[in-house]
Amino acid sequence: MCRHPVNGIGLDQIRPGLVPSLCRLCFPKEWKHPVTIGVMDAAERQRYSRQILFPGIGERGQEALARSHAVVVGVGALGSFHAAALARAGVGRITLIDRDYVEPSNLHRQWLFDEADAAEALPKAAAAERHIARINSGVLARGVVADLTPGNVSELLGDAGVILDGTDNFDTRYLINDFAVSRGIPWIYGAAVGSYGLTMPVIPGRTACLRCVYPDPPAGVQPTCETAGVVNVIVSAVASLQVADALKILCGRTDAVQPRITTMDVWNGGIRQIEMPVRDPECPACARREFPYLEERSRPPVSLCGRNAVQIHERERPIDLMKLQARLEPLGEVRANQFALRFFVPPYEMTVFPDGRAIVKGTSDTGVARSLYARYVG
Ligand SMILES: [Zn+2]
Repeated sequence: MCRHPVNGIGLDQIRPGLVPSLCRLCFPKEWKHPVTIGVMDAAERQRYSRQILFPGIGERGQEALARSHAVVVGVGALGSFHAAALARAGVGRITLIDRDYVEPSNLHRQWLFDEADAAEALPKAAAAERHIARINSGVLARGVVADLTPGNVSELLGDAGVILDGTDNFDTRYLINDFAVSRGIPWIYGAAVGSYGLTMPVIPGRTACLRCVYPDPPAGVQPTCETAGVVNVIVSAVASLQVADALKILCGRTDAVQPRITTMDVWNGGIRQIEMPVRDPECPACARREFPYLEERSRPPVSLCGRNAVQIHERERPIDLMKLQARLEPLGEVRANQFALRFFVPPYEMTVFPDGRAIVKGTSDTGVARSLYARYVG
């Protein structure tokens, strides 16, 4: 058991012997791959026999999966499903990045976690790593308790064969897109809220990228699972399609990935697929190869603001405080006027200003502050 602090989280808060890989300082830089490259033994052949029988994968595809590395960014509703499905499919290495803890309100939709994880308030990355080890001891999962930032993106995503989007915020998606396009790594966008969700594969050099389709992040308040609720099966539906594309890519069948945006509504509507737009010849990312989200200054800076408070300096994001108040009222005490909105989410208190700036009291952990902002402002 190490004693290195991880992003301000003391490891002594976590049960001894749980996962040494929680610590980024202790964790080995190189993977020790458990699978002999290119050769499956009889037990592995048996284990994956039904998948090998499927012509789209076959024995060569299965061997490719064992050699591959998938990175899941955000191990919540979508990401915990990705992690379990990738492990069961035999993807050799799975990196799981998340900054949050398991809470009881996660359990209805976050398929990998159980009541014990919530009772212990385990970091999701750690809990996921532990569950994956039980699901498939032949694959390596490493949980990384971290906020993905321009500073660590290269180290955490640089070796990925595919990146799965399990995030809940556009900051991180635009960072993933810039990094993936700059390095030529495929990634699969996914989002779900309410009963609605969508997914879109980004294959650099072949399909449009996120910025071809949505040049800039959406402005204003966004619906989130915390404010608009979510039906659990929209999560598994979206995550399943993401994993299907990831498996095609990892087993060497990237050509089988269809450049389509799939939208689904499991309550009020059906499934719709539209062709992705063609690549924008003026796209700042995949055409002009400008990657502003990889620069630290592109991110709304976060600073410690007195004792036990963090300020998020978002400035160009006009927020309608009355609209935000209406969304937050069912969730807790809210007070708002034209100048500021104050929302109490014990043990935290968040004050949001009309330009998008916010002060989160009750923590000095910048990751916790960003997470609260993403959950309640969007
Ligand atoms: Zn593009």
